[in-house]
Amino acid sequence: MEQFLRMRQDLPVYPWRGESIRIGADDQEVWEIPDPQGHWQRLLQLCDGMHSSTDIIKTMIAAGVNFDEVCTAINHLREANIIIVFNKPYTESSHDERVRGNLAYFWAEKLDALAIQQQLDAMTVTVIGAGGGGSHFLMHLAALGVQHVRIVDYDIVDASNLNRQWMYDIQHIGSAKVDAAAEYVMNRVAGATVQTFYQKLERVIDVRAIIQGSNWVFCAADEPPYRMQRLVNRACIAERIPCMYAFSQRQSGRMMEIIPDVSGCVDCLLATSDARYPSFRQLVTGLVTSNFHQDTPLISPTLGLMTSWIMKRWVDLITRPDISRGNTMFRLDFSTFQITPISTWKRLPECVTCGNQGNAQHAVWQLLPID
Ligand SMILES: [Zn+2]
Repeated sequence: MEQFLRMRQDLPVYPWRGESIRIGADDQEVWEIPDPQGHWQRLLQLCDGMHSSTDIIKTMIAAGVNFDEVCTAINHLREANIIIVFNKPYTESSHDERVRGNLAYFWAEKLDALAIQQQLDAMTVTVIGAGGGGSHFLMHLAALGVQHVRIVDYDIVDASNLNRQWMYDIQHIGSAKVDAAAEYVMNRVAGATVQTFYQKLERVIDVRAIIQGSNWVFCAADEPPYRMQRLVNRACIAERIPCMYAFSQRQSGRMMEIIPDVSGCVDCLLATSDARYPSFRQLVTGLVTSNFHQDTPLISPTLGLMTSWIMKRWVDLITRPDISRGNTMFRLDFSTFQITPISTWKRLPECVTCGNQGNAQHAVWQLLPID
């Protein structure tokens, strides 16, 4: 099959120390190539996505380079991921222009950028909660190009949200967050379909109805504490949909992904934590029975850090089959930027939600009833 070659557009090419050229300028990818006659530079110019390898070889031979040399050069450039190979001519469409940075990033990461972008475009993602976590996730999803989103929230934009929730403006105060968030996504993504659910989630069956058919769920709702995560988890496991969970504290963010059939679930984590920490059940009881609505101790940069970190992890999860996933909760420290795994667990065969060996009843689950 005919192959078309295109040089990566994120790499600069420039003269270097007299008779060489240098490709790249960042701290990870730099090549220096002796090029006294300018052949390499000419070869790279021909790699514009429109020329086939046969054309390029012919042109280079006409310029006085022998066949073996050209083929060796092309192979080196391919192996170094400096040129990308296509099976038909590549020109940038208006869609690709909009996501040019995404494509450049994925190509530089040695991934099939066009396939990944298509996957992102076609995805349906449900975001539960459109507050600090959820609204930032939606902004990232829109920027990444995800065209189908469902937004669930039961809250209106409040003046106190404006210290950190970038999506909302003064004009949104008093509007439902789902409406303001939908407007944002529609304005950002051509052809987006947005479904909004101005609704409090109370039952597993309601969550299942909303998330059904989604490729991913983001759980950024934390009220009531623990119970909301249990509810979303039960629905996601039943629908076999992977879910990202986000938790914020003043100086750190936490996150985990739950992958049905692969990792342990939220109920496995709760049971494991209960067995591991003597006061865990007391903490759960305390938070569940507390009616105190505290202020959120987050500033714009800490929320931005946390949500960007989680979205980066999500992009890695959907693009890299080789990374290990699930069974770990990570913590990002907002001052040192260190990421540490703070909790690990396993899928419990007796788990009431994801297990395959009956319906054990665990005391910590009974503290947080869901149906
Ligand atoms: Zn489980």
